[in-house]
Amino acid sequence: MKGLGLGTAGLALWEAGAGKEALAAQDFSFKKGREVPTICPYCGVGCGIIVTERDGKIVNVEGDPDHPINQGALCPKGMSVSDISFVVAGKNNRVPNPRRLTKVLYRAPGSGHWEEKDWDWALREIALRIKATRDETFELKDASGVTVNRTQAIAHVGSASLDNEENYLIHKFLRSIGVINLDHHARL
Ligand code: SF4
Repeated sequence: MKGLGLGTAGLALWEAGAGKEALAAQDFSFKKGREVPTICPYCGVGCGIIVTERDGKIVNVEGDPDHPINQGALCPKGMSVSDISFVVAGKNNRVPNPRRLTKVLYRAPGSGHWEEKDWDWALREIALRIKATRDETFELKDASGVTVNRTQAIAHVGSASLDNEENYLIHKFLRSIGVINLDHHARL
């Protein structure tokens, strides 16, 4: 209440019910739609979020009051989760984020500009480079003769946008090729 600048008189009015009436008079129709509970992808706290969809578009994002971790609250980062897929363009008018990248961009070593590539090219290139790096750097044993079967030339930093299943598969894949340097920015 103090943050809203209501002051003592305002607080008295709120307590008398004026605040509730003001709230009831607000137009919340902009956020009507199909509500889908999900988890904030930004950090390891894992706050609950309700995403509302209408006519194939996300029309609202807010903290989930039933979620045991955040009980409806979101930090500024979680509140800006809408930036992932859409931006607020004026009051109650939300549109897909035009700045979201939808194509692969590649910058060659030493180059000062990005080139547009297709996914087939990118996935093949990633696979070839991982294979070449692993083959060049694979260690069967460490300096004291202990079997290690690892490469220390490849590291992986996960994303909090990944779900548990994706993290599991990535972890299994990386371990299977001998990558031991794994981290995740949500842990920081
Ligand atoms: S970034 Fe904020 S809202 Fe998202 S999980 Fe972490 S604390 Fe919660």
